[in-house]
Amino acid sequence: KAKAEGGNQLLFFRNEMNQAAQASMQLENELRNAVKKKQIEVYYQPQIDAQTLRPIGSEALVRWNHPTLGMISPVTFIPLAESTGLIIEIGNFVLQQAVKQTAKWYKKGHQLRIGINLSSRQFTQSDLMLEVQQALSSNELPSALIDLEITESLAMNDAERTTRLLKGLKAMGVSISIDDFGTGYSSLAYLNSFPIDTIKIDRCFIKNLDTQAGQTIANTIIAMAKSLDLEVIAEGIETEEQMHYLQSKECDILQGFKFGKPMPAKEFEAWLELQNQGITQ
Ligand code: C2E
Ligand code: MG
Ligand code: MG
Ligand code: MG
Repeated sequence: KAKAEGGNQLLFFRNEMNQAAQASMQLENELRNAVKKKQIEVYYQPQIDAQTLRPIGSEALVRWNHPTLGMISPVTFIPLAESTGLIIEIGNFVLQQAVKQTAKWYKKGHQLRIGINLSSRQFTQSDLMLEVQQALSSNELPSALIDLEITESLAMNDAERTTRLLKGLKAMGVSISIDDFGTGYSSLAYLNSFPIDTIKIDRCFIKNLDTQAGQTIANTIIAMAKSLDLEVIAEGIETEEQMHYLQSKECDILQGFKFGKPMPAKEFEAWLELQNQGITQ
């Protein structure tokens, strides 16, 4: 009897495995067609000048509008896109779309920069320089308004290639940020050798600003960035206290739900209008 039960359990387990594997394969197939089916959308989260509290730009954050599952977070599908290589197509779509949108705003008189997240595959497998060049030449956006966000782990993967590529991109006039600073497996050595412009302090450190340790870490990152002549962006600001603290430490740029969540282009435009009418949140 015991044996029979064990057998049933194994069968049950197998079915579960199959279901999980099938679900993930189905999702992968759906993701494969998502760009073509126009299910991939770019959201924009405001970035503001810490001293004037005026909008200075946005970060492009991708969303998958799935027909039955609803809006899927990039936390869920970016890893799938990376493991299947689909990130190359999706990443380039986000790049072209975000630059196009930012150029539209630029033509309307809004001088906003655009932060675009890059995954390591885009860095190693796509012709990133060409893609950026295409985005620039078909949209007439000053290249200085493009900020490419890379992570520490990405940068350290192949340091030589990274340096070469970053130098090429810098020569085109775009700027480079280190995203999620302080969370990667990294050495600080790259701060010397890579031509970066900006450090984005990870949200987890901002969350801890109500503790002594959290403040010390934030202060240290800001002081280090300043002494290296790098700009500092803080991510994940949700409260007045966090905002005031970072202002007092002369952090340059703030981003977080306190100022605005990531939103579709239309909504971002409405948010921008409100800011320009001098209405504060
Ligand atoms: P990230 O680049 O660090 O982006 C910031 C994330 O923090 C966003 O999550 C944003 O919604 C969230 N966030 C910002 N302010 C706050 C806040 O005040 N509170 C809280 N709780 N969260 C806040 P999102 O949009 O879910 O994106 C997650 C990650 O997915 C991104 O982290 C980035 O690593 C990746 N990602 C998003 N779009 C792209 C893309 O187009 N390409 C690539 N390669 N990765 C992307
Ligand atoms: Mg980012
Ligand atoms: Mg990130
Ligand atoms: Mg980040």
